[in-house]
Amino acid sequence: MKLTHHLDDATLVRYAAGDLDEAFAVIVSSHLAMCEQCRKASHDAEELGGQMLEAAEETAVNEDAFAKLMAAIDEQNQANVDGVDAQNVHQFPKKRAAISGDVPMPLQRFLGSQIADIEWKKVAPGISKHDIDLGKDVPSSLYLLNIAEGQAVPEHGHGGMEMTLILSGAYTDRFGRFGPGDIADLDEHVEHQPIVEAGAPCICLVATEKPTKFKGLVERILQPIIGI
Ligand SMILES: [Zn+2]
Repeated sequence: MKLTHHLDDATLVRYAAGDLDEAFAVIVSSHLAMCEQCRKASHDAEELGGQMLEAAEETAVNEDAFAKLMAAIDEQNQANVDGVDAQNVHQFPKKRAAISGDVPMPLQRFLGSQIADIEWKKVAPGISKHDIDLGKDVPSSLYLLNIAEGQAVPEHGHGGMEMTLILSGAYTDRFGRFGPGDIADLDEHVEHQPIVEAGAPCICLVATEKPTKFKGLVERILQPIIGI
């Protein structure tokens, strides 16, 4: 699977530290199941996080520790790309994806193994939704959207951080083309207008922070419709 859009380093570090809400953690683990490159980066983040914790016990963590950690990850990634660390690559499983079915393994406990078996609720013309119940105490929402081929989702911003993982089909927005396995990681200030490619619906998994307020008219209109 050739992926274009990956998890960023800050997300990987937060995931390694157990600092992501469950909805976002499910998206990250699902992407990791589909992406060898991010599995490797995640392993590095865990290792470096451990080293940072050890160092922190000896000396107080200074303000630029995070920046140093990021730089160290970049350095290590570059070393890996350069093949310096190639002897360690075999430690990572070639595939952690589903043994059967087309739903990534970390999602199968919520959805079963087949995308075709998912039940959809129509929420707008050309857009259906499937909510995943993570419990009331989780401060983020997780759901699937099934957007018809050729469909344009109206230009919109977000009430908070939003992360999307494409499971099948593809869409294009001003950030490029997003196909199966690709991640779109958007903060609340980003506006975009995804348009689904012709040929198949786009089925994507979306995690959003539960919005605390709605700033714009478009958000107020869209929120009751698709819950963003
Ligand atoms: Zn990746």
